[in-house]
Amino acid sequence: MYDKNNIFAKILRGEISCKKVYEDKFVLAFEDINPQTKIHVLVIPKGEYVNMDDFSKNAKSIEIEGLIRGIGIVSAMLGVDKTGYRYLGNNGIDAGQEVPHLHFHIFGGEKIGKMINK
Ligand code: AMP
Repeated sequence: MYDKNNIFAKILRGEISCKKVYEDKFVLAFEDINPQTKIHVLVIPKGEYVNMDDFSKNAKSIEIEGLIRGIGIVSAMLGVDKTGYRYLGNNGIDAGQEVPHLHFHIFGGEKIGKMINK
């Protein structure tokens, strides 16, 4: 069940500010408040989806396309399409998902290292 009071929902409603990188009909992208790499941006769909399970089952095709294209647009805007980047999504408890609104992390701007640290 989607929690309308999660922090990204508040950002989408403009109740909390963010450092916006990009916005269109389907996505909002903004800088992560606690960056893990030189470039760390979050790309979120505008629709109310908890995570990838929810999104993959319930989003309209146009929303799925919009999110994937949005990640590409943002990566190009950040310039990491040239240098490489990691796009990552945490889904649920074992992945340590903190915010229950679907989001992709874009990490880049430097060598990132190992894919998984336990
Ligand atoms: P996850 O663990 O995948 O749910 O990641 C949540 C991310 O949201 C973390 O990297 C946080 O630093 C980031 N975050 C939490 N609150 C904010 C906020 N108000 N603005 C930007 N990023 C945030």
